[in-house]
Amino acid sequence: MSAVTPGLVCAHHHLYSALARGMPAPPRVPTSFQEILEQIWWRLDAALDLEMIRWSAMLGALEALESGTTAIVDHHESPNAIEGSLDVIAAACAEVGVRSLLAYGITDRHGPDGARRGLAENERFLREGGRGLVGIHAAFTCSDESLSAAAGLAEDLGVGVHVHVCEGPGDIDAPRRFAGLTRDGWLLAHCVHLPTDHTLRGTILHNPMSNLNNAVGYANPARFANPVALGTDGIGGNVLETFRLAYVMQRSADVTCGPDTAWSWLETGWGLVPEARSDEVTWSYDPMDPWHVAFTPGIRPLRIVVDGEVVFADGRPTRVDADEIRAKAREQAARLHARL
Ligand SMILES: [Zn+2]
Repeated sequence: MSAVTPGLVCAHHHLYSALARGMPAPPRVPTSFQEILEQIWWRLDAALDLEMIRWSAMLGALEALESGTTAIVDHHESPNAIEGSLDVIAAACAEVGVRSLLAYGITDRHGPDGARRGLAENERFLREGGRGLVGIHAAFTCSDESLSAAAGLAEDLGVGVHVHVCEGPGDIDAPRRFAGLTRDGWLLAHCVHLPTDHTLRGTILHNPMSNLNNAVGYANPARFANPVALGTDGIGGNVLETFRLAYVMQRSADVTCGPDTAWSWLETGWGLVPEARSDEVTWSYDPMDPWHVAFTPGIRPLRIVVDGEVVFADGRPTRVDADEIRAKAREQAARLHARL
């Protein structure tokens, strides 16, 4: 028995974090989300070069495909390898056979020149025909000038902005900082500490596993009027697993809810990458409806067609060698970890 669905969409990913697993422990144990950023992610992203970015994206795209995800909305940062980074990620995803919607997250953490170069990478990539949005890391690491420059560039190019909003308590100023700037095409990741009666426009990207892992709290996205989509925030690319967790997290706060709401968040992804609707994933289980999937572990894709081409069959990708990608990613992870 098997069922066919469109390709799943991971609405918030960080492909560069695919090489983070196994990294050396930070110098001291982080005691807050801010310290997790400072001691783990901001050391890791500063050590990335283009070769590491390439193989992290190959591995991340492979793992997404292996779980039935055919489109990745990625948010990238590599402050010492900015120029050309989005091309490298786009090429890696295309090689594996996964669709991508990319953004470079600009920040003033490395001074205004870093933000300017990040913005230039977004602009170059999008003007050359790349699929994506303009990226902002978060309001709390950007000047007002950088926020309005990114919003203005997105407006000029007719795309949205992909940004972290109120992920931790250190970003509670975000609604005020973004007042008047957001549009319906914006993607607002996390929103854990965003007040329910906020005025920001855009789709809220819910990342329950990451939020639990960072101990930032539960976003409870059902409280918002905005559309909601599901992401992993870099912890793999498995959207079915994310749906299952999103459902039980919602249930933990509201015992009357069913899995249909979390399933509707999974479906929101198709509004972000409409082409994924025409992709076909044949699953190991039937039926693929919310009540079944919520309580059925181990559902996996058997065959995947993207853009008319079979890219996954018999448990393996057809365009690339999964063993080779894992071996190369391990080599690059060793180089990366040695720099930390
Ligand atoms: Zn994120």
